[in-house]
Amino acid sequence: MAIPLFRRAAPDPDRITITHGGDSFPVRVTRHARARRYSLRLSSKTNEVILTLPPRGSLHAATDFAVSQGAWIAARIRRIATRTPFAHGAIIPLRGIDHRVIHRPAPRGVVTEATDAAGAPTIAVYGDAPHVARRLRDFLTRQAKRDLLLAVEIHARTLGVTPSRISVKDTVSRWGSCSASGNLSFSWRLIMAPSFVLHYLAAHEVAHLKEMNHSTRFWRIVASLDPRWREAERWLSHEGSKLHLYG
Ligand SMILES: [Zn+2]
Repeated sequence: MAIPLFRRAAPDPDRITITHGGDSFPVRVTRHARARRYSLRLSSKTNEVILTLPPRGSLHAATDFAVSQGAWIAARIRRIATRTPFAHGAIIPLRGIDHRVIHRPAPRGVVTEATDAAGAPTIAVYGDAPHVARRLRDFLTRQAKRDLLLAVEIHARTLGVTPSRISVKDTVSRWGSCSASGNLSFSWRLIMAPSFVLHYLAAHEVAHLKEMNHSTRFWRIVASLDPRWREAERWLSHEGSKLHLYG
């Protein structure tokens, strides 16, 4: 019987399970050619916690590392569990005011703001059930675009500037941006924040059409356009990340 000189390492498992505080959490395992150390991250695409190893890293050591980061892993995964899906019965803020989502089967798919029998605000989504989430998101994106176009127009007129293009996207890292060519883009999720926050973001990006930096001059322009800018900045730093937990 031939004895192999080198024992072939067992392939990595797809996932390992980390226990923390009596609960167990799945962690996906992957190797990366350029990784130099063990690292953990949350994939915003798949909502999984991913443990990355260098090509020759030891799975045992990587698992020890993940175990040592159990609190971090548990916090991330528990947070995902608190997401509010775009579905019937969900409570979604619109311009800072909680609205209950109501799905109504109907031949035509439209979305309207309404109030229920008790006078509470609702968003009624008509059409087939599988399209509720997409219709609701499209509706919120349209509302965001409408409010942002208006706010940008007002601020741009005040400053005597003209943006090239205004787009509304699903950005994760930034609420708004202004390109060197004068294109403004914003996150559609701002429509869920109180209106003064969306108005501030519009003022901030329009101010960049005059000052492409965050200098004292820039902030003076922002303050002249929007007296509530500090309050809005504070809201974004305390509450902003919650807007990513919807849909
Ligand atoms: Zn800026």
